[in-house]
Amino acid sequence: MRLRNVPGAREVMEDNAYVFTRPEANKGKWHEIFGNSNPIHIEIGTGKGKFISALAALNPHINYIGIEKYSSVLLRAVEKQNELQLLNLRFIRMDAENICEAFGKEEAERIYLNFSDPWPKDRHAKRRLTARQFFARYDEILSKDGRVEFKTDNLDLFEFSLSEAEEAGWTLDAVTRDLHHDEIMSAGNIMTEYEERFSSEGKPICKLVASRKK
Ligand code: SAM
Repeated sequence: MRLRNVPGAREVMEDNAYVFTRPEANKGKWHEIFGNSNPIHIEIGTGKGKFISALAALNPHINYIGIEKYSSVLLRAVEKQNELQLLNLRFIRMDAENICEAFGKEEAERIYLNFSDPWPKDRHAKRRLTARQFFARYDEILSKDGRVEFKTDNLDLFEFSLSEAEEAGWTLDAVTRDLHHDEIMSAGNIMTEYEERFSSEGKPICKLVASRKK
């Protein structure tokens, strides 16, 4: 994502009821924050929040948390949430590398990764959100039957992710390299901003669903 520094974005994050910038304080307390025991679904790298806001509006009985590293990007998601005021949607500004500091053991049911940064250089592989080091973090915070859903247009990153999931001991429940022409996997698909852009350019979208079912 091209990053434009938006003056004041950081201050907005510090002072908004829907955004958490020190999530360590809420570790293990997210159900209290939402005021219910509904399942918690997380999107990492939520960008401007189109996907997670649409899901939250459609599914009021699921709690959604969008994680984004940059205030300037998250600002758009927060502005939208200020208008929508969805009770089941919150955001965390943080680097997902520290996700285990923000969530307790098995606190969430699902993690969405959409068009994650590819970090093409081998020496940066550990930073990819589907690297085995990240699957180990997801293993900690996801419930036993929780799952990871990952979409990308980047075939190299997708092949890497398939092998990392298996290497980390996860089971691939569903895989497609052309989501929009896969009748089963495309049912109920919500397009992200990047997905709309890439598919309008004719690029096929890959998707995997991984869990720890044996
Ligand atoms: N998910 C959106 C979509 O599909 O339209 C945005 C995709 S954009 C390519 C990737 C987003 O992930 C960027 O906003 C970036 O700042 C965020 N991101 C990348 N690495 C991250 C990390 N380690 N923690 C939190 N956010 C991250």
